[in-house]
Amino acid sequence: MKMEAFTVENVPLIREGDDIASIICDNANIIDNDIIVIASTIVAKAEGRIFRLEDIHAGEEAQRIAAKHHADPSFIQAVLDRSHEVLMDFPILLVETKNGHVCIKAGIDDSNVEKGYLVDLPEDPDASAANIGKKIEGICGKKISVIVTDTNGRAFKIGQTGVAVGLYRIHPILNWVGEKDLFGNILEITEEAIADEIAGMANLLMGEGDGGHPIIIVRGLEMRSHEDASIKEMYRSDREDLIKKGLRGLKQT
Ligand code: GDP
Ligand code: MN
Ligand code: MN
Repeated sequence: MKMEAFTVENVPLIREGDDIASIICDNANIIDNDIIVIASTIVAKAEGRIFRLEDIHAGEEAQRIAAKHHADPSFIQAVLDRSHEVLMDFPILLVETKNGHVCIKAGIDDSNVEKGYLVDLPEDPDASAANIGKKIEGICGKKISVIVTDTNGRAFKIGQTGVAVGLYRIHPILNWVGEKDLFGNILEITEEAIADEIAGMANLLMGEGDGGHPIIIVRGLEMRSHEDASIKEMYRSDREDLIKKGLRGLKQT
């Protein structure tokens, strides 16, 4: 078995209105079943999701949390505005975004964006992935999948890794339940988080700094699915999520 991952070259600094699908088709020879992995940072920039703190008015809760972090209350307000729930406010500001993604500071970045500006996550990363994916298919005439990624920390371990935050035509989970292992035992639990695995691999080529490689093509995996694929297939329901329950319990003590 073999798979490949490579960078798309000549990607400019992305600005609002830029057409990421055309940039990809102009600079890469796409083939059927390619998985196109795109850093959320450039998707958000193309969608105009950059902003300045001076345009934000901080409310009481933002002031309270900001004081604990010695942070700018306007920044905390920006995080709260994008959050469905604050799971922990100190020493890390861990939230569930309105789209259901759990991450630090709602995924707002001040890196790889002009000084004085911040860059959001895309508002609906599945929709962003679908827009770009359909457009690529229209231009190139190839059947592809798209994964929009961000860099996130993880519980229990030091270090950040690329994760999927939005998808087009690739299910995030590969279900092994019911398959056999080498000894004929039936697998009962394993659900492989393939979108995160691919995101992690692609992130190795993207890097985090000034590399300028926000788009990676992963070739050799046949994962293309129906259009109904969604990142939300990967998010545990509130009822099943024991970690969230634990964090809510901690907030009350
Ligand atoms: P995130 O993981 O989505 O938050 O994105 P990062 O800030 O970690 O950037 C991932 C990669 O994309 C790095 O190689 C950056 O240098 C690159 N990058 C970010 N913004 C741009 C851009 O506007 N143009 C280009 N060419 N590269 C960018
Ligand atoms: Mn990021
Ligand atoms: Mn990153």
